[in-house]
Amino acid sequence: MWRIVYSLISAAIVLVVAASAQAGQVDRLYVIDCGSAHAADQSLWSPGINAGVPIDLSDNCYLIHHSSESYLLWDTGITDRLAALPGGQYVEATRQTWRRTQTLVGALAALGVKPADVRYVAISHFHPDHTGNVDEFPDATVIMQKREWDFAMALPQKPFSPEHKALLIEGDKDVFGDGSLVLISTPGHTPGHQSLLVKLPKTGTVLLTGDAVHFKDNWDNRRVPGFNTDKDQTIASMQRIADFLAKEQAKLWINHDKPSNDALRHPPEFYE
Ligand SMILES: [Zn+2]
Repeated sequence: MWRIVYSLISAAIVLVVAASAQAGQVDRLYVIDCGSAHAADQSLWSPGINAGVPIDLSDNCYLIHHSSESYLLWDTGITDRLAALPGGQYVEATRQTWRRTQTLVGALAALGVKPADVRYVAISHFHPDHTGNVDEFPDATVIMQKREWDFAMALPQKPFSPEHKALLIEGDKDVFGDGSLVLISTPGHTPGHQSLLVKLPKTGTVLLTGDAVHFKDNWDNRRVPGFNTDKDQTIASMQRIADFLAKEQAKLWINHDKPSNDALRHPPEFYE
């Protein structure tokens, strides 16, 4: 009798575990071109290395669909206003020219997605090439590390409306509670920088860097840009990312690394 009860209990446990594992998943990820930059001197990101050598940067937004019928947008790129400036905009402080060939809102519309369809806008950090279009999504909840929000909203020039609906987190956060999308705290580039782990059923797990690292070469050599807020934290965050990659057997997708982004699929193609 007890043996039957035990086997019934363990069968029930197996069912519960199976059900929770199927609770939800990411079924689609689009890599959207959210701007590009031409920079005169790549040693801005690698002090003492490649001084005076120009470099081109990609800048992505990632539109992620979860099976709960929710869209999460990871970063929003540089402002859509640049799409109206064919020559782009030169930024003297960093000797970069920023361009946009399409707007984010237009790129989403081409996929049949309206701003109101986006439930969460998760932000790696407050810099303008990541937060340029947050205010285009007034109905979405912004997810940011509390430290980053507090730092950014204390600046004279706020990255977006401080009135925006927001979920402010401290540390890692499993967004849907099923392990499919996990924000991981990777400070150092900025005080509350974060990265995103995405579990794709067919593609496998990918880790979206934000700006925890900018280029593959910097990743391979653990180089830290001179303008990061904390060098030791940056190195520790890179190690944390390396540990996640090993544990999750994940691929690293570096947002600003143009050669590796050129090799990715772009809309209307997607990853699943
Ligand atoms: Zn950036």
